[in-house]
Amino acid sequence: MSSPSPEPSRRAAALDQADPLARFRAEFFLPSGQIYLDGNSLGPLSRRAEAHVQRVLGEWRALGINGWTDAVPPWITLSETVAAQVAPLIGATPDEVAVTGSTTTNLHQLLATLFDPCGSVLARDSRDQGRSPRNVIVADELNFSSDLHALHSHLRQRGLDPARHLRLIKSRDGRTLHPADIRAAFTPDVQLAVLPAVQFVSGQLLDLAAITREAHAAGVLIGWDCSHSIGAVPHTLDHAAADFAFWCHYKYLNAGPGAVGGLYLNRRHLGRAPGLAGWWGVRPDRRFALVAQHEPAPDASALHIGTPHLLSVAPLLGSLEIIAEAGGVAALRAKSLALTSFLMELADRELAGLGFTVANPRADAERGGHVALAHPEAWRICQALKAAGVVPDFRRPDIIRLAPAPLYNSFADCADAIARLQTIVRTAAHEKFSTQRALVT
Ligand SMILES: *Cc1c(COP(=O)(O)O)cnc(C)c1O
Repeated sequence: MSSPSPEPSRRAAALDQADPLARFRAEFFLPSGQIYLDGNSLGPLSRRAEAHVQRVLGEWRALGINGWTDAVPPWITLSETVAAQVAPLIGATPDEVAVTGSTTTNLHQLLATLFDPCGSVLARDSRDQGRSPRNVIVADELNFSSDLHALHSHLRQRGLDPARHLRLIKSRDGRTLHPADIRAAFTPDVQLAVLPAVQFVSGQLLDLAAITREAHAAGVLIGWDCSHSIGAVPHTLDHAAADFAFWCHYKYLNAGPGAVGGLYLNRRHLGRAPGLAGWWGVRPDRRFALVAQHEPAPDASALHIGTPHLLSVAPLLGSLEIIAEAGGVAALRAKSLALTSFLMELADRELAGLGFTVANPRADAERGGHVALAHPEAWRICQALKAAGVVPDFRRPDIIRLAPAPLYNSFADCADAIARLQTIVRTAAHEKFSTQRALVT
């Protein structure tokens, strides 16, 4: 593969030189010889995350059952310890956050707790009063399949037909949501809405505060899937007055495959009985009473179900340490925007005429942590990129996602990736004359 053309690589070197976060790259194990741009699917292991897993394993080895009380910090409150450190990343207070479950199970838990299709029970009364019952959930057609599976199955469990009770906001361009279409979906029959803060394919970042305001003005509860934004985009969920949120920690938070997830429940909903109850959601001072009566914890930890998955919690401690040292998520966002701006600028210039379009919104306020390049041959280009030592990912139908992450990627990574992309597509275009068939199948 060719090396980057001199001008972008010189600029990259200058940007890397001036980068206050450059020193954190050494904290991560990056696959050797590769440019890792897939941290929005699975962040890499850090030395700190590894050390915390080793520590918990050591405590288990040395203490056995006593680790629950004698480990440092004690396992019994480890989830709360971590939740307090996650809270600033999303703009919440610690009592509104629970570190538990997975993205999808947390969505199930939040729906079970907050979806209240009273209209389905009181339909006749409501209609008599000239009011439509609120028994519809709003989501969007672009969202990740698992969220939509959860919504469908949840409605079915409530005895509601998803064909009637799940309304999916349509995308005008197949990539983004239009604010007017979101607003229009909040009709009087809607009780609750679930939207992604950042679209997982196009990287579109929605205006959480404005949309939350519109939902509330229409009497709709709203929750945010922050899987593609936590750790990349600062959130102010309390300030936005969001009702709930949920996310994973294995993307921009680098907590490892299948790491524990997280959820946020605004304080005005604290004290509700959890929809899916278990002993770990019982008030800590009553948990070991082991009685049939469920006395929920007064905070978001009421939404815990069973024993915390501590080996999947431990790596997160390391990730959060690094983020705190780096100056918090605002510092990460500043570098993330610089990296993605540089990447888009290089894509515009170095890939001009090669069939690419930047498919993510351009404005800083409307994009998350990755760049989405559309190309009709996206799948094959992704395969070639991997062979050339760049790790991107492909999303249907025609998107190459490149996620330069602020803690471990450099501007040189961006320049190098674009140079390799240019070489791949130029070479393929050249060969097209001789191997037409191979390229179009
Ligand atoms: C990554 C992701 C998920 C994954 O769900 P898990 O339960 O963690 O496997 C769900 N929703 C969105 C939007 C995601 O980006």
